[in-house]
Amino acid sequence: MKFQSTRDQSATKFSAAQVIKQGLASDGGLFVPESIPTLTVAEIEALRNADYPTRAAKILGKFLTDYTEEELLADCRAAYAESSFVGGAAPLVALKNNVFSMELWHGPTAAFKDMALQIMPRLLSRALVKTGEERTALILVATSGDTGKAALEGYKDIDRIKMVVFYPVDGVSRVQKLQMQTQTGNNVYVCAINGNFDDAQTGVKKIFSSDEDVKYLNEKGFFFSSANSINWGRLAPQIVYYVSAYCDLLNNGTLQMGEKMNVTVPTGNFGNILAAYIAKLMGLPIDRLVCASNKNNILTDFFRTGTYDRNRAFHLTMSPSMDILISSNLERLLYFMAGAEHTAAYMESLNKTGAYTIEPEIKKAIDASFSGFCANEEETAQTIRDTMKESGYLADTHTAVALSAARQYMKVSGDTKPMVVASTASPYKFANDVYRSLYGTNPTDPLAALDELSAKTGTEIPYPLRGIGQRKIRFTDVVPAADMWKAVQKYLG
Ligand SMILES: *Cc1c(COP(=O)(O)O)cnc(C)c1O
Repeated sequence: MKFQSTRDQSATKFSAAQVIKQGLASDGGLFVPESIPTLTVAEIEALRNADYPTRAAKILGKFLTDYTEEELLADCRAAYAESSFVGGAAPLVALKNNVFSMELWHGPTAAFKDMALQIMPRLLSRALVKTGEERTALILVATSGDTGKAALEGYKDIDRIKMVVFYPVDGVSRVQKLQMQTQTGNNVYVCAINGNFDDAQTGVKKIFSSDEDVKYLNEKGFFFSSANSINWGRLAPQIVYYVSAYCDLLNNGTLQMGEKMNVTVPTGNFGNILAAYIAKLMGLPIDRLVCASNKNNILTDFFRTGTYDRNRAFHLTMSPSMDILISSNLERLLYFMAGAEHTAAYMESLNKTGAYTIEPEIKKAIDASFSGFCANEEETAQTIRDTMKESGYLADTHTAVALSAARQYMKVSGDTKPMVVASTASPYKFANDVYRSLYGTNPTDPLAALDELSAKTGTEIPYPLRGIGQRKIRFTDVVPAADMWKAVQKYLG
């Protein structure tokens, strides 16, 4: 299986290892597989009886054909071990009305980013060997909270990789800061900056694009790599859990082989829902894909009108991982629907004017699979309350946006097929907002929120967040935004 850029009409081909090492194509496009491999009924039948790591290795093997079965199985066993995904990698919980919550947050940082970031570093480490790379990869991350921690947990103690994470000193939650300050691993360094998230991100981009810094690193035996969510190595592992959910619905008698399920995904960068669409293209019986947005409903508008327009206000919400105006992975959907030439033109228009409009026949093709629905802050809070009342289920703010969208879709369409809703974060990761949504008052303070939520709902705090206030603090450096490169040099020694 070879890969190409979404914007390249000449379709130059790359291997999976090259694509994982490089991340982004040199024309600014995203890497996509040259064709979509198929998943047959017989293969799904075989996966029904397999555990999650085996299912994952099988699906990944269809895309990463330059990795051996043994390599993929070893990496999947290590990534999705019971000891790090306590309670299973992607268990389904039945709610009312044929809705199932697919819990993607049982990993080491209690958020769905773990599903990709636990395996991707292992794939990168092997990609360095496969491509004959002799240097060590240095990964720089600017984070507003969740991605940094998930990346740190994924890359810690992985061979031939070092990682530096920068976060705005006053721009992350108390829990998020503690999660990063107490990070373990002998190849990672965490540094706060005086500035906001944009300063951190600009600083990282500046380092990446400085010839002088690149040369300095090269002489020391390093090269820059990124843990970005548009890397194919992060997308491919996300296809797996949709296949796994289908197997689980067969096994629990909800579906007969070949019958279709629907999927709702709380969407930000469009990676997670795109993975579901690829599963559908492979032949997994998925009917409708519901794209759920919060108050930043640019995607809802896109699916309804065919126009993507980022010239609009940006809202901070209690589902911050979905607060986004540019959904990078949407470019991959456009490529699958309209081809490289159209995609390059849309992206140019987006760059120049902040907007583009797809042609009616392309919109029609998208309509055949996708629907867009959104929930504002009050609807999200109401959904958290309703879900607790009706199903005794505690949903986080992101999952609640999706549950609301799923309900809206089912009501409008009358479609009663089993609905798998991607649950992307533990409610304890957003304990403060979940608590306030349920009880209408604030908990004592953001750290106490976890214990208070647990006591009131009788649910357990997931292991990565337990006793977070008592862990040993390892990283306390704070530097001016202008000194980020100095901090990297000091760390490398
Ligand atoms: C990243 C994230 C999302 C959005 O996922 P995309 O793949 O970017 O669409 C949703 N919920 C949570 C909790 C996240 O961390």
